[in-house]
Amino acid sequence: MQESAMKAWWESSHMAGANAAYIEELYEAYLEDPQSVPSTWQQVFESLPKVDGVELDSNHTLIRDQYRKMAALGPIARAAGSTPQQVGVAGDEKQVKVLQLINAFRFRGHQHANLDPLGLWRQERVRDLELSHHNLTEKDFDTQFNLGSYAIGKDKMSLGELYKSLNRTYCGSIGAEYMHITDTEQKRWLQQRIESVEAKPAITREEKIKILKGLIAADGMEKYLGAKFPGAKRFSLEGGDSLIPMLKSLINEAGASGSKEVVVGMAHRGRLNVLVNVLGKNPSVLFDEFAGKHDDSLGAGDVKYHAGFSSDYATPGGNVHLALAFNPSHLEIVNPVVMGSVRARLSRRGSEGAKVLPITIHGDSAIAGQGVVQETFNMSQTRAYAVGGTVRIVINNQVGFTTSKTEDTRSTQYCTDIAKMVQAPILHVNGDDPEAVVFVTKLALDYRNKFKRDVVIDLVCYRRHGHNEADEPNATQPLMYQKVKKHPVPRELYAQQLTAEGSVEQHEIDKLIAEYRAALDHGACVVEEWRPMTEHSVDWTPFLGHDWDVAYDPSLPVEKIKELGARLIDYPAEHKLQSRVNKLYLDRKAMVEGERLVDWGMAENMAYASILSENTDIRITGQDSGRGTFFHRHAVLHNQADGSTYMPLQNLYSEQGNIEIHDSVLSEEAVMAFEYGFATAEPRTLTIWEAQFGDFANGAQVVFDQFLSSGEAKWGRLCGLTVLLPHGYEGQGPEHSSARLERFLQLCADHNWQVCVPSTPAQVYGMIRRQSVRPMRRPLIVMSPKSLLRHPLAVSSLDELAEGTFQNVIGEIDEIPAKKVKRVVLCSGKVYYDLLEKRRENEQTDVAIIRVEQLYPFPSDEMAKVLADYQHVKDWVWCQEEPKNQGAWYCSQHHFNESIPAGQTIKYAGREASASPAVGYIAVHNQQQKALVDEALNTK
Ligand code: AMP
Repeated sequence: MQESAMKAWWESSHMAGANAAYIEELYEAYLEDPQSVPSTWQQVFESLPKVDGVELDSNHTLIRDQYRKMAALGPIARAAGSTPQQVGVAGDEKQVKVLQLINAFRFRGHQHANLDPLGLWRQERVRDLELSHHNLTEKDFDTQFNLGSYAIGKDKMSLGELYKSLNRTYCGSIGAEYMHITDTEQKRWLQQRIESVEAKPAITREEKIKILKGLIAADGMEKYLGAKFPGAKRFSLEGGDSLIPMLKSLINEAGASGSKEVVVGMAHRGRLNVLVNVLGKNPSVLFDEFAGKHDDSLGAGDVKYHAGFSSDYATPGGNVHLALAFNPSHLEIVNPVVMGSVRARLSRRGSEGAKVLPITIHGDSAIAGQGVVQETFNMSQTRAYAVGGTVRIVINNQVGFTTSKTEDTRSTQYCTDIAKMVQAPILHVNGDDPEAVVFVTKLALDYRNKFKRDVVIDLVCYRRHGHNEADEPNATQPLMYQKVKKHPVPRELYAQQLTAEGSVEQHEIDKLIAEYRAALDHGACVVEEWRPMTEHSVDWTPFLGHDWDVAYDPSLPVEKIKELGARLIDYPAEHKLQSRVNKLYLDRKAMVEGERLVDWGMAENMAYASILSENTDIRITGQDSGRGTFFHRHAVLHNQADGSTYMPLQNLYSEQGNIEIHDSVLSEEAVMAFEYGFATAEPRTLTIWEAQFGDFANGAQVVFDQFLSSGEAKWGRLCGLTVLLPHGYEGQGPEHSSARLERFLQLCADHNWQVCVPSTPAQVYGMIRRQSVRPMRRPLIVMSPKSLLRHPLAVSSLDELAEGTFQNVIGEIDEIPAKKVKRVVLCSGKVYYDLLEKRRENEQTDVAIIRVEQLYPFPSDEMAKVLADYQHVKDWVWCQEEPKNQGAWYCSQHHFNESIPAGQTIKYAGREASASPAVGYIAVHNQQQKALVDEALNTK
């Protein structure tokens, strides 16, 4: 049967719609044992349509798969449970309705849950949750019904009891959204956990006091700061106070379940509170910061509500290391950074996910509004980026700055709907019910650890003040703030609950409040579980305190280079290469044997091989990293016979560094941020991100601006990430010519990063090796080539590789006596070869061409040496391919002028200023290119 016919049959069948889940279970039971279902159902299943032209196997797998597909078309998926033997087809219609009622609560109970502490949410009437919708009435309340898979621990219940139970479970302080998950095991697991305790497990007095202490700390901290520093911005947590007991419980349970490290990412809201009350930052240090004191060891520094922090935390499973990631104002961008940091720690610990826990804390407007969130969800289960699931917490205070109307902030019912793209369970919870908060927290963690997938907690709360404490929220949210003003703080509400139920006496509560206040007065750490840091898994000291000129020895004996080369081209004979790749590998063989000079792809791979042979790990990701956008790398070999892959780099020696090369998801922003996170957490691994074309890095601009270029100055965090950005004017139009060199140069200061434009295979080899061997960890931005990958002049010898030095400046290579030189042309990148070829063609001997291979930090000393012989020259030119307002001209001109003899100025030869990076027409491109080369050589 064709799919459309099957669909039509299904839609007209009595098995469609709400009955689907129940019937599917029945059918699965029938498939296992036809006798286990009533005979009437046996007949129905016997008569199911057959798939055209295909014999059904004995297990009816084909028809079952079709059946599953069709079931997914129904509005209600397959979760209503039932014990097939207990219900007849038409026999007990009410029983079927009861199962549908259970199903309805599982699907839509959250829409009637009591989630908003302020009671402002307009909840639509959900008829599926009403008895009448299922043809049931209160008259049926005393009738006993089978409960199917309702996991309350009983087989039967009266409808009256069941209805109350369903309301308690699905419409209390927790709104559990999980029926969008298609995996039955996950769904059943969640049902079991939620339904078995009606979403409200018994809590010991000890646990209650812990929760209360968390709320006292949350509230006490804000009140204290408010009184001590009135009007100062602190982005108070107030309203979302339950975050503190939630995080403490999460870390405690993570430790108990074997986690050794927890990495947290969060924005400014509530951050000071988390720093002091969870991570154990000393309050006196924070107070000093409020008073204006600062750490002089940092360059620029940052505001206190962006600061990160590291500590250890005692849990029943031993001490856990906590790291709160440094964070810019740009919302949500820290999430992939946290994931990358966790991935590095996981790799280090060699385990699969439970040992390091990522926690990301989101805002309600930002999680729905910022696209990077989608990118991280998409990455969450991929080979390159999986971290065994992230626990994501939304501080849903129902307002983003001054915008709170749902019709302004999103197009979905919940701010968390984005999480459904990966079928993550979403646990909405009323922030004024801290016990429910702690329950969903444990549930979320256990789900993450069991299924290694993302899970979301939507902490529905409110914001007691304006966006910051100086803001007046009534101006824009008058009704909300009338409510907020009258609303007791979570600590007060919980204290009332505990005294009312007799768990805690008022005087005990008063004592705890007084103790917390006294601890703040005292200024010492207020987190009982805080421990001095010993559990972090990497030592940065070998990499601290070095600048870019620190000494290092990159050289290797030429025999070693040959050995590496031979191993690099070795792959199993049965691994059949595609013909062009085969040719390339044959060429590489000739290079190793000294019959050909080494090209770019080989030199780059040789650099990786040399680093691996020194037991250093490498991670390379990018949109086409295995092969290389321009067909040059071929580090991953695809077997033409069976599609399997083989990486020679992984198989060089029995003992070597580990290398992972991943073709990335189609993202720039989140993947770059992920690699930044990885590289800031792991100084020993050579970490490389490659853009498909350099201009695509534009999509990651926030990562370059907020993290890569400024992270060390703001936060003292070093990062050795290498970024390969293909760049070069070859007539490919505005988008694929320029990697926007000027933007990277504009961000240069304080020796924050290196910007290199290597022009030979030996240079790329030396540059990559330097980034690993030299103990300094700072980002390396590379304008990497396209046509140079195959340029006949861009070749190097094995001896050059063996030497291994990256030359920041390369002097004249032709036999041009310095004394005869009348003009010196400085340049970077591919244009060098255009100039060289043209000069040779012109047989000019009075022009010297000097390559600046590192534009930043500018190599003044090396320039001085190279230019020493040209001090008589009065004609100096900078030649570039980019338009005048782009490339290096504006940003590096002062360095060029400082390098040339006093009194001389440097002239410009390049394209005119242009709004667009390059022209779209090849003929115009060629004309421009010829003109700028002629101008540089003075032959116009
Ligand atoms: P973490 O595991 O991120 O909490 O880091 C533990 C400690 O290592 C920090 O307190 C820093 O002293 C140091 N550290 C971590 N990352 C870096 C980095 N990127 N640059 C310099 N030091 C770091």
